[in-house]
Amino acid sequence: MDAHLLGRLATAYRDLHSHPELSGQEVRTAGVAATWLRENGFDVTEGVGGTGVVGVLRRGEGPCVLLRADMDALPVQEATGLPHASTVDGVMHACGHDVHVTCLVGAAATLAADPGWSGTLVCLFQPAEETASGARAMVADRLAELVPRPDVVLGQHVAPLPAGSLGLRTGPAFAATDSLRVTLWGRGGHGSRPETTVDPVVMAAATALRLQGVVAREVAGTETAVLTVGALNAGTAPNIIADRAELLVNIRSSDEAVRQRVLGAVERIVRAEAQASGAPREPGVERIESAPAVLNDPAATDVVRRALGAVVGAARVVEPGPVTGSEDVGVIAEGLGAPLVFWLLGGADPAAFAGAASTEDVVRVVAGLPSNHSPHFAPVEDPTLAVGVQALVAAARAWLAPTA
Ligand SMILES: [Zn+2]
Ligand SMILES: [Zn+2]
Repeated sequence: MDAHLLGRLATAYRDLHSHPELSGQEVRTAGVAATWLRENGFDVTEGVGGTGVVGVLRRGEGPCVLLRADMDALPVQEATGLPHASTVDGVMHACGHDVHVTCLVGAAATLAADPGWSGTLVCLFQPAEETASGARAMVADRLAELVPRPDVVLGQHVAPLPAGSLGLRTGPAFAATDSLRVTLWGRGGHGSRPETTVDPVVMAAATALRLQGVVAREVAGTETAVLTVGALNAGTAPNIIADRAELLVNIRSSDEAVRQRVLGAVERIVRAEAQASGAPREPGVERIESAPAVLNDPAATDVVRRALGAVVGAARVVEPGPVTGSEDVGVIAEGLGAPLVFWLLGGADPAAFAGAASTEDVVRVVAGLPSNHSPHFAPVEDPTLAVGVQALVAAARAWLAPTA
C-alpha cells in the first residue's frame, strides 16, 4: 500500500498509543478520527452516544458498507517499555483499540482516494467498548437516523495471532457477556448474638457456591458457558454482622437459549438462597453490563473470507475457534438491522512463531504471548497496520459497486 500513507499511519498509531483514554472519555481520540474523516471528504457527526464519531461518504448509487472501530483504553499500567508507551499514569491501550482506530482512518483515506467504487461508505468510531456500553449508547443516540441502513457491518480486533494472518469464523465468534450486581439483604447486629440477625455473609457464601452448579449441572455437555463470581463484598469488622452483601457475577455464553437459561438459574438461586436464609427483603439482581454474542453472518462471512484471502493469501486466513472474550459490535449491527462480519487481525511478532509447523505449535506459542489486557501487550506495527487497512478496504470493496 501507499508508503506515504503508511508512514502517516505509523505516526498516528504511536500518537494514539501514547495518549490512551478510558471508556467514555475518548475526546482526543475522537478528535483525531474526525480530523482524518473531514480531510478525506466525509460528512462527520461527533458526540454520538458520548464521544462516538460517524463519517459518511456518499458516492452515488450502490450498497452501503459500515466499518467500525472502537477507541477506548484500559485502566492498566503499561509495562511494554516502548518509546511511545503511554504518557498517562495507569491508563494503557492494552486491548489494541489504537490499532483499530489507526487502521480505520487508513481505510477511510484509501477508499476516499479510490475512484473505482460507488455507493455509501460509513466509518464509525465507537466509545466505551470495554464497558460493553458504547455501542448501545450510539444506537440509542439516533445512529439509525445519521446513517443509511448498511448492507453489512464490518470490523476487526487485533489479537496475538502471527502478524500477517487473519482469523475468521462463521457463526458465533465472540461470546455474549452479562454482568450482574446481586444485592443480598440480611439483618445486622452484634457478632456475639447471631440469633438476632440474618447473616448476609453466610447467605453470600452459600449463593456463590451454589451458583457454581449452574454451568456444571444445568448446561448441556455439548454447550458452553462460563459463570464467575468476580467480587463478593460484605461486612466491616470481626464482631459486626453486616446487613447486606454484594456479589458481582459475570456470565459468558455463545447460544442465546443457553444464555437465557443461565440468567434464569442465577435469578432463581439468588432468590431461593435469600429465602432459605430468612432474608428480610427480596434480593436485588441488576444487569450492569451486557453484550450479545458476535454472530458472523454465514453468507457475508464467505464474501469476506474471499476478500481477506486476496490480501494475505487464503492459507493465512485461519479459523480461530470460538472466543470466550466479548465485543459489543453486534449491538451496532443489530441496531441497524444489518449482517455482521468481525475478524481477528494478527498482531504478534511473526519471529515468535519461527519453527511452529503444526496448529498445536501455533496454539502453544499464542498461549505464551502477552494477551489483550496484559501490561505487556504490544502488537508489532509492521505488517499489522498495513494488513489491517488492506483487510478493511478489501472487505468493503467486496460490497461497494465497482465503477466501469
Ligand atoms: Zn478489551
Ligand atoms: Zn478490545
